[in-house]
Amino acid sequence: MSSQMYDITTCPECGSLMFNGRCENRDCKYHWRPYDENDKTDNE
Ligand SMILES: [Zn+2]
Repeated sequence: MSSQMYDITTCPECGSLMFNGRCENRDCKYHWRPYDENDKTDNE
């Protein structure tokens, strides 16, 4: 079973929505450089 769909969170920088760690706000640095809350999770 794969429950890995879009991971939608709120950007800690600008408060916009983030999809899989990427901010939707193009003026935000996390739009170009996705935010990693975990180091590197390689499950599956
Ligand atoms: Zn942002």
